[in-house]
Amino acid sequence: MAMRLSGAPVRDKILKYILLKGREAGVNAGLTVLRMGEKPEDLAYEKSIIAMGEKAGITVKVKLLDENMTDKKAKDLISEINNDKSIHGVLLLRPMANKEAEKAITENLAPSKDVDGITPSCMAGLYGADKTYFPPCTARACMEILSFYNLSPKGKRVVVIGRSLVIGKPVSMMLLREDATVTICHSKTSNLKEITKNADIVIVAIGRREAIGGEFLEKGQTVIDVGINVTEENKLIGDVNYEEAFSIVDNITPVPGGVGSVTASLLLLHCLQSCLGIIDKY
Ligand code: NAP
Repeated sequence: MAMRLSGAPVRDKILKYILLKGREAGVNAGLTVLRMGEKPEDLAYEKSIIAMGEKAGITVKVKLLDENMTDKKAKDLISEINNDKSIHGVLLLRPMANKEAEKAITENLAPSKDVDGITPSCMAGLYGADKTYFPPCTARACMEILSFYNLSPKGKRVVVIGRSLVIGKPVSMMLLREDATVTICHSKTSNLKEITKNADIVIVAIGRREAIGGEFLEKGQTVIDVGINVTEENKLIGDVNYEEAFSIVDNITPVPGGVGSVTASLLLLHCLQSCLGIIDKY
């Protein structure tokens, strides 16, 4: 039987820190969420950020973008945001229906306001182990969960399944920075089961409901399930078969209630840090 690595205490510790630190500094940090359309997953994430912002003392504003906005309009909007001293962080709900606008926003957002690590500068900073930029929040959420539960990846064999720029690659870089020995797997990996069974920690970010079953896992392992899949009944299910994994491994994050709950709190933490001009430590 595994230990359940709940995200709630990790999230609550971060929110408490934000509230206290913000009050102590007497600042009012502001986050702007840029949304295009009404995708249920965007609305759900936005709702949780607004609720957490209220708890943590961060002002969250939502800006709805026109799906037909031109490249110039997107650049003008970002220039306005970059110059607005009341906005300390920006979250872009991606993927957006208008790819050109998404690209223009990503490329022109000031790195200091890029609290989800999506701009080219933040990406380069991550790969160059430069801690003066914010990392993507979901990748950092995996690291914060390991740290909170004293499961240091130092010297451990860590297998990351998924190589996206949102999670797989950034979390792999962060693990390397923490002296883990990292193997990155993807849809073309042969012998995935052999690779995962030899790991101490398995981080799963595939985007396929319960793709990783008990046959991929071994006793003694820690499993971090990043996946969020919505069923026909509107239930959230991870990329790992939780029931099977729970009876085999030592530690596992649930879905919901695991990585996802920590991600939004880190976004708010980064926003406060942007406001205070300090990055990385908390
Ligand atoms: P993505 O861009 O679709 O990437 C999926 C990755 O998984 C790709 O690298 C793909 O390999 C690999 N893959 C797909 N099927 C595989 C298989 N059968 N075996 C091994 N690898 C396989 O997805 P993403 O944006 O990284 O998101 C991954 C998951 O995380 C999704 O469920 C998403 O909803 C969730 N998510 C969670 C949070 C959170 O806060 N918890 C935030 C964002 C996303 P190839 O490169 O070869 O195609």
